[in-house]
Amino acid sequence: MIQNNYFNTNEDLKKQFSDIIDWKEIVDAFENGFADAEEYKKTSNEHLQYAPSNYEDAIEYYRTLLENLGDITGTTVASLAAEMDRIGLKYDSGNVTFPDAMIKAYKAVQETGLQPYGISRRRGGLGIPCTVQALMMELLGRADASLAIALGCANLAETIERFASKEMSDKYVPLMASGELTGAMALTEPNYGSDLPGVQTKAEKGADGIWRLTGTKRFITHACGFAGTPSVILTLARTGSPTSGARGLSFFLVHGKDVHVASIEKKMGLHCSPTCEVVYDNSPGELIGEESQGLVKYAMGMMNTARLSIAAQAMGIGSAAYFEAKKYASERVQFGKTIDKIPAVRKMLDLMERETAAMRCLLIEASRTVDMYLWRLERLEHSGLPDREVRKDEQVRKWEKLANYFTPLSKYYTSEMCNKVAYDAVQIHGGSGYTEDYDVSRIFRDARITNIYEGTTQLQVVASIGGVVAGMAPAGHLRAYLDEEMAKFQPSAELTQIRATLEDAITAYKSISDGDSRDMLSFELVEMSARLIAGMLLERAASRQQGADRADRLRIAKLYNSDSQAICAANTTKIKNAGSLVTA
Ligand SMILES: Cc1cc2nc3c(=O)[nH]c(=O)nc-3n(C[C@H](O)[C@H](O)[C@H](O)COP(=O)(O)OP(=O)(O)OC[C@H]3O[C@@H](n4cnc5c(N)ncnc54)[C@H](O)[C@@H]3O)c2cc1C
Repeated sequence: MIQNNYFNTNEDLKKQFSDIIDWKEIVDAFENGFADAEEYKKTSNEHLQYAPSNYEDAIEYYRTLLENLGDITGTTVASLAAEMDRIGLKYDSGNVTFPDAMIKAYKAVQETGLQPYGISRRRGGLGIPCTVQALMMELLGRADASLAIALGCANLAETIERFASKEMSDKYVPLMASGELTGAMALTEPNYGSDLPGVQTKAEKGADGIWRLTGTKRFITHACGFAGTPSVILTLARTGSPTSGARGLSFFLVHGKDVHVASIEKKMGLHCSPTCEVVYDNSPGELIGEESQGLVKYAMGMMNTARLSIAAQAMGIGSAAYFEAKKYASERVQFGKTIDKIPAVRKMLDLMERETAAMRCLLIEASRTVDMYLWRLERLEHSGLPDREVRKDEQVRKWEKLANYFTPLSKYYTSEMCNKVAYDAVQIHGGSGYTEDYDVSRIFRDARITNIYEGTTQLQVVASIGGVVAGMAPAGHLRAYLDEEMAKFQPSAELTQIRATLEDAITAYKSISDGDSRDMLSFELVEMSARLIAGMLLERAASRQQGADRADRLRIAKLYNSDSQAICAANTTKIKNAGSLVTA
């Protein structure tokens, strides 16, 4: 595994940070006029001592976090990843044992103070926008996917902060920030995976006023805690009748000690990530927020940040695959030359380069859409205004709609492309790629989960298709977004043509009368929109760069758009031929 600073040596990531991301609008959205720094001046609240007091301060703070994490992930964690994968987890009578290498990797991140990246400053976290969180998750994902998820679980505290009472947040979140507690999210059941409205784990309130949960949850990451650190399990359970659907579900905090971890899965990858079967037998739970809002408000409310987190993990795994393949191809000699000089191999490397650049553009833009509404929404919610007034806020409405489209889009795209890039990375390694001697084998296996968990690609398509069809209507938010963003630079002829092809395909898609055929072709339409937006973001990024950097990004954008033209033409043909798809 390549060992260096995963932030400082990743040119594309560094340029995104330094030249391309519009930090001013994100700092404005997140730092709220640098209110935390002002409060620190008055109160000396130690949690706020690093709160930035101006733009330069904020950007420097974010950069320092990324440089420090880049160093830890690219040295200590990367050096332990293969051993973690090889040794894996052990399960015995409800207890899970983690290998020393995993504990060492986790502690290395913890000791730098970077663990609570998703938690607010006032409760002991780093207090950073989603865009920075996503870049941090990319660095973690590149070094080791299991570790990335372990840290993601500790940061589930974010959900408690957003939806639980102040008392609950004050009680649990600081313990999660300091590493005395970790988290788990229990939604899935043996019979209900994608179909979450059907979940049947039951929660009943006793005469003593205590809620008790009974049922079985499946595939629950870190329900067993982590190496002696207990977990709190955020659990979706039914407080309504068995047929009450989504509106009968509520959200509870359950202590890991009050459930039984019946087994852990033996998996293709993520060997150091415990995937637990959890049995609740009259297990006490504390209600989070209000009854009946578990799925419709809380699980949905955290969906955008949860999807971003997995999109960023996939971005990291994709980066790892690209860099490992690039290095191998520059060293492996066949026919008297290194294989990166062979056109067929060069072609794969070039595709990986432009796809990882496109993935990063989409991830960062999706993070931007979340930053632009989430913090403002939270401030409004805490201002005591009635819900309906909060909902009228134009800024929140616009960006939340965009985020509801961009986050499933980036989750689908980065996870699918991370698999494609990992596949090609194995190919470039030839027979060695199929052995466990090289890291691409682990990377390939770990990549495979990213388009399954936190909602499969098919479910991301279901979540984003409305954003394309309604969003591109004459007064649609996606159309307005594209008009606004494409006016910021001079779009290429190729990009303009891709947009026209998408418009044509939407018209054809809307004319399909059969619902099943339409559903079958949703992927094609969503893919076209992803490619239009990624191409647009690559060109917009180039317009923010100078000289050779700009020319290089335009080169990548041109190649990417050329692929997109071919894909969009093929997809449009499939959509226009919709009738031939109905098989039964
Ligand atoms: C390693 C791992 C870790 C996990 N961690 C957690 C966790 O911490 N917490 C948690 O709650 N869950 C967790 N999960 C569960 C995960 O989120 C689910 O596996 C996933 O959402 C898919 O559900 P399922 O496995 O039941 O598949 P199913 O829902 O049975 O889907 C099977 C297939 O049908 C397709 N499909 C189903 N419904 C539709 C539809 N309406 N439209 C189109 N296609 C559809 C799916 O895309 C898929 O291809 C984890 C799973 C794994 C493997």
